[in-house]
Amino acid sequence: MDIKNVTVAGSGVLGYQIAFQCAFHGYNVTVYDINDEVLANAKAKFDILAEAFKRDLNASQSQLEETKARLAYSADLAVATKDADLMIEAVPESPQIKIDFYHKLAKVAPEKTIFVTNSSTLLPSQFANETGRPAKFLALHFANEIWKHNTAEVMGHPATDKQVFDTIVSFAKTIGMVALPLHKEQPGYIVNSLLVPLLTAATNLLVGGVSDAETIDRTWMVATGAPLGPFAILDVVGITTAYNINKMAAEATNDPLKVKTVAYLKENFIDKNKLGVSTGEGFYTY
Ligand code: NAD
Repeated sequence: MDIKNVTVAGSGVLGYQIAFQCAFHGYNVTVYDINDEVLANAKAKFDILAEAFKRDLNASQSQLEETKARLAYSADLAVATKDADLMIEAVPESPQIKIDFYHKLAKVAPEKTIFVTNSSTLLPSQFANETGRPAKFLALHFANEIWKHNTAEVMGHPATDKQVFDTIVSFAKTIGMVALPLHKEQPGYIVNSLLVPLLTAATNLLVGGVSDAETIDRTWMVATGAPLGPFAILDVVGITTAYNINKMAAEATNDPLKVKTVAYLKENFIDKNKLGVSTGEGFYTY
């Protein structure tokens, strides 16, 4: 299965990074989004992204010009997928939006096109039937700032064709990713299955009054050799995300420690706009 033409659906936070990464590595990429105005925004964002590729990857001006020349844009899904070997979906993390999108896509995409979803929290088996081609559908999950944090978790559902799975593992490597195959479906893939419990445990120690953030971080770093402790990681992820996850858990369980965590994060961080690295201050100052 030869992949040359890639369509990226959704040009938001992750989609435009994925599109640029694929074009940078030589693929013809068509960016699809809901209208021309959103696509024009994406085009403007590529200029900023090009600066990051220069700074972090030492990319040359000619490499970046060639990358931009390989990018095309369309708000018509049939045009955008006309000759696609691979369609990477990065539309909003809403089951209904994704279902509607796959219904539309199934009607217009060529039979050869493999579909992958970049969903962070939804499992491919939830959408497999909506795609009309379950054997050619799986998850390919990237991390934010994909050119630097270059993980690509590859996760099929029970009906994904093994050859299609292997094609996507190979494809991920050709765009500069570290391909990380999963043998079965797992909510949160590998990275969040490891990270969320660590961050939750750290927050429980802090809010439960066992120790302070710096000591908890130092314990983790000295004991394991990790470069960052859980609170420094929380500053990178963004405290809003931690707040939202804890809020949902508090509402669902009424667990007193979760309720206390939500109040703690709101009072000390959310209300003071100390949201982590993005605002210059969170648990630490940047
Ligand atoms: P986003 O909201 O920034 O971007 C979504 C894009 O999809 C927007 O450009 C929007 O115009 C477009 N869109 C909306 N409806 C559409 C439709 N019907 N058809 C086509 N495009 C449509 O979202 P994001 O953060 O880029 O997330 C996209 C996906 O990537 C989600 O599934 C998310 O879980 C996943 N993801 C996000 C991150 C992250 O750090 N943001 C990391 C890994 C994976």
